[in-house]
Amino acid sequence: MAGARDRTDRIRQSIAPFMRFFAGPYTALAGDAATANFAVGNPHDMALPGYVDALHRHLDPRDTEWFAYKTSEPPARRAVARTLAARTGLDWDPEDIAMTNGGFAAIAVALKALLNPGDEAIFLTPPWFFYEMLILAADAVPVRVRLEPPRFELDFAAIEAAVTPRTRLVLLNSPHNPGGRVYPADDLQRLADLLAGASARIGAPIHLLSDEPYNRIVFDGRSYHSPAEFYPRTVVTYSYGKTLLAPGMRIGYLAMPPSMPERERLREEIFIAQLSGGWLFPNALLQHAIDDLERLSIDVGALERRRDRLVPALRALGYEATLPEGTFYVMARAPFDDDLAFCERLNRHKVLVLPGSVVELPGWFRISLTASDEMVERGIGGFAAAVRDVSGV
Ligand code: PMP
Repeated sequence: MAGARDRTDRIRQSIAPFMRFFAGPYTALAGDAATANFAVGNPHDMALPGYVDALHRHLDPRDTEWFAYKTSEPPARRAVARTLAARTGLDWDPEDIAMTNGGFAAIAVALKALLNPGDEAIFLTPPWFFYEMLILAADAVPVRVRLEPPRFELDFAAIEAAVTPRTRLVLLNSPHNPGGRVYPADDLQRLADLLAGASARIGAPIHLLSDEPYNRIVFDGRSYHSPAEFYPRTVVTYSYGKTLLAPGMRIGYLAMPPSMPERERLREEIFIAQLSGGWLFPNALLQHAIDDLERLSIDVGALERRRDRLVPALRALGYEATLPEGTFYVMARAPFDDDLAFCERLNRHKVLVLPGSVVELPGWFRISLTASDEMVERGIGGFAAAVRDVSGV
């Protein structure tokens, strides 16, 4: 097992590409009004209608405890359990819902609760850029399995081959950031069968961590299926930061389905992980408002229209680009292998995107559809100019 210094070094290394991007191009360009900002899933329009009203409705204290210490408030847990039941057809127990300050904390808590030091956790790459860091922070061992662009199909043989006697968890993110895939029910059933077989083979249960903050952001009339519908030992993590496009308002949750064995013991592990992590609960106001916030969503159709404006425009310019099935993200291929150099070229034309190197996919870059429509129009001009630069026309 790694010592504390060694672990800190590995954490530093795992987030180094993100830190370089954040300290460099992001800081230089994100605040510039002339930038078409496609960097991360941040809002570039005013808050969605109804959001601020929902907070106002719950701001004035109704009792002396209104702003007291809050863990997972029973009404918030019940609201989440109702939504999960409607979305999955399972009978979720409010006691199995832990309210957290965002999906970020929910993942950290799940990993701490489910893993012992030295356990192996498999994650799929390209990943959300903080998975490796969070696995290391839980004193566990990150193990990668690759998803090949542009389809990012699950590679079942590779997942199976990555399982060892120390494997205790597989982390799946669907809808997938940055690949935009929404893995269908057949894939989830196959993964469930694989994990059940692998658990039996190694003589220890493998949990599935289903990180699904984009589960309400799916396109072309798709419906979303959670792995929890297929695999009993699934822990779901969710953030409201995506559906409400307010990622600075920190609320999310971690949830166990009724099929989860040893739920009572795990509830306690989760609570302890929230406490020992430094009170990883959402603030009081957001919990009071959650039933109202549950009913709101950004305009997913508008995101889809933005996708349908941008992707054909990029393809017409000669870029290879994905057509995402869900999430905020389009992946496009740089005209040459060095994505950092090409992103720098885009920066000169005031287009800010996330270099693929930051998400372990060199040669590509990620475009967030949370840019405003006006940024999309300006951005297309920048994407065209950068291609002209490098083709020497
Ligand atoms: N998981 C994935 C796949 C994400 O994309 C994000 C946010 N970018 C998170 C988790 C964390 O969400 P939040 O910051 O809202 O907690």
